[in-house]
Amino acid sequence: MSYRCKTCGETHEGLPFTWGSEAPALCYEIPEIERDRRIEMSSDQCIVDGTNYFVLGRIEIRVVNSADNFYWLAWVSVSEPDYDRMTDLWQSMGRETEPPYSCTLSSELPCYSESTLGLAAQLYTQPVGERPFVVFDLSDHPIVIEQRNGITISRVQEIGEKCMHG
Ligand SMILES: [Zn+2]
Repeated sequence: MSYRCKTCGETHEGLPFTWGSEAPALCYEIPEIERDRRIEMSSDQCIVDGTNYFVLGRIEIRVVNSADNFYWLAWVSVSEPDYDRMTDLWQSMGRETEPPYSCTLSSELPCYSESTLGLAAQLYTQPVGERPFVVFDLSDHPIVIEQRNGITISRVQEIGEKCMHG
């Protein structure tokens, strides 16, 4: 699906329904020269200073009148025992029967009037090969309301333009 961008006026191909964040927010507070030493990073897991545990989760948001859902890929902070448990179960068939873990959002997502850092959520393990789902605890935060009510396609476009143009 191509669309006319309200930000730059150009036509962009393929409206993205998924946007990611590369690293937990905490990583950006660490001076670049120290990052190699203090950050242990893989595509889905991250440990900072040996004491801060993060995993990459998916925030699913229903899009009204669309067959596709919208997703933020976002880092969440989990406890050390839960991190170890997830690591142990990484390749275990049936791991999705695991009860949810408490977590807090550790990515600052653009396009919201309030910071998304520290939002409380539950992390639901998915079958092997799929990223865990982040389901926010109820609050009045705009992203929590979006996850509860869904968003429109024009909101997906608004997010796309903002993410693409920084
Ligand atoms: Zn544009």
